Amino acid sequence: MSDKFDVIVIGAGPAGYVAAIRAAQLGLKTACVDAFVGKDGKQALGGTCLNVGCIPSKALLDSSKQYFNLTHNLPAHGISVENAKVDMATFIGRKDKIVKQFTGGIGQLFKANKVTPFFGKGKLLKGNNVEITGNDGSKQTISATNVILASGSVPIELPFAKFDGKNIIDNAGALDINEVPKRLGVIGAGVIGLELGSVWNRLGAQVTILEALPDFLAVADQDVAKVAKKEFEKQGLTIKLGAKLTKAEVKKNEVALTYEDKDGAHELTVDKLLVAVGRRAYTEGLLADDTGVKLDERGRIVVDEHNHTGVDGVWAIGDAVRGPMLAHKGSEEGVAVAEWIAGKAGHINLDTVPWVIYTEPEIAWAGKTEKELKEAGVPYKIGTFPFAAIGRAVAMNEAIGQVKVIAHAETDRLLGVHMVGPGVSELIAEAVVAMEFKGSAEDLARIVHAHPTLSEAVHEAALSVDKRAIHKGN
Ligand code: FAD
Ligand code: NAD
Repeated sequence: MSDKFDVIVIGAGPAGYVAAIRAAQLGLKTACVDAFVGKDGKQALGGTCLNVGCIPSKALLDSSKQYFNLTHNLPAHGISVENAKVDMATFIGRKDKIVKQFTGGIGQLFKANKVTPFFGKGKLLKGNNVEITGNDGSKQTISATNVILASGSVPIELPFAKFDGKNIIDNAGALDINEVPKRLGVIGAGVIGLELGSVWNRLGAQVTILEALPDFLAVADQDVAKVAKKEFEKQGLTIKLGAKLTKAEVKKNEVALTYEDKDGAHELTVDKLLVAVGRRAYTEGLLADDTGVKLDERGRIVVDEHNHTGVDGVWAIGDAVRGPMLAHKGSEEGVAVAEWIAGKAGHINLDTVPWVIYTEPEIAWAGKTEKELKEAGVPYKIGTFPFAAIGRAVAMNEAIGQVKVIAHAETDRLLGVHMVGPGVSELIAEAVVAMEFKGSAEDLARIVHAHPTLSEAVHEAALSVDKRAIHKGN
């Protein structure tokens, strides 16, 4: 087989593997190089998302939710079970099986689409050659007309709380704890801290989250953040805001923490410490010195609006470039780049990328927050509707939270939709479609929504923008 390809993708995460499949669908001879090693020591395609991110975290969130429902929520439905227990080997084993199913599935998709996989570390050399170093140190070089860099991201490490894989852990470690820790410390009340903090809290760990910023979930709409914080605290999460970790010392299988807040210095001892203070683009060993590909001040690969690096035939996508670090954002960039390479009209709109946090209640949004609109001087109007007035939510005993629709004050165009409550990870899709089609609040308000469903909250919030919600005072 010739070592010359139309497209080589470096990285088989949700950005890279999707780019490779789309390129192959378009008739391009495609290779995908990935270095990820799974729990069994073999190549595991799918990157962070499938191996140690989206999929395993959702598996553990769902298992822990079942247990929490059994012990905390089902009694309200008249259902109770005595001596509910979690078998940790099954709990973690189920997650591992799901990961294996999906990472293996990428291999089958590669086969079906004739993408050639390579196992090893890829390095872009000048002239669109890629040097691949295998785990055994062997080297080979392949080349292509186009190279797509999709090397993803890794967790940020704090210099005074370095990961040891045992007591001080990152996301991968927090997805593989085989005994519920009595006390879990979490640094960072971001997406990972809240999702994985919730998993272990639901199983009975005493979870304390230290967040450096004074505001809770500063990236989200603050009305949504307020509801979420109150609910998380009710579930037993301790969240300390404006709390900066200054020291973390592992002593006899415990971690002694020192943190500072407005009241001074405090100490806290935990059994495990999850550090989840954000992720950074991973480009170590990716680029030879003379490729001409540039990195920005945060170490991300510089690209234009078409994900082109400015070097002939070299593109970059996913967590390694600007924009939200989300799987679906990377995948859509991958599709768009493959289509641009094939001379088609690729499309990616970063303004409508939805965010979802898979806690209970769930949090989801798309578009701008009120704060962002205020800062930009954009005039807006808002409509809200609480799940407490939605029959389906009440029947489910999950009538928490609300939907908030923000529309332009003059044109009524949808600018942002923010949700906290049951099932909002699915409800947000309607808002994204409406925003992508440049819809207005009135468009959403005129669409028939099935009754009784949670989606009626979106309908009523859109009606409420014009003060004509039916099932609440306006
Ligand atoms: P990655 O998934 O990081 O994949 C990059 C791949 O490239 C890796 O396999 C890496 O080994 C490989 N690689 C890197 N350099 C080289 C090289 N030089 N040669 C060969 N291979 C290389 N996002 C969501 O949208 N929804 C979620 O629910 C969600 N949950 C998450 C939960 C957790 C705990 C974490 C950590 C992240 C989560 N994310 C979620 C974020 C999501 O995982 C990332 O946005 C996504 O994986 C980025 O995709 P990517 O393809 O850019 O990079
Ligand atoms: P994050 O950016 O979501 O949150 C990090 C938090 O840590 C922030 O609130 C930040 O203020 C805080 N922080 C930073 N330094 C700190 C310090 N020294 N002490 C205390 N707090 C500190 O990052 P993350 O939770 O690590 O997740 C990384 C990324 O992975 C996310 O931004 C997201 O893009 C992706 N992700 C997405 C999902 C999802 O889509 N559901 C789930 C998990 C991860």
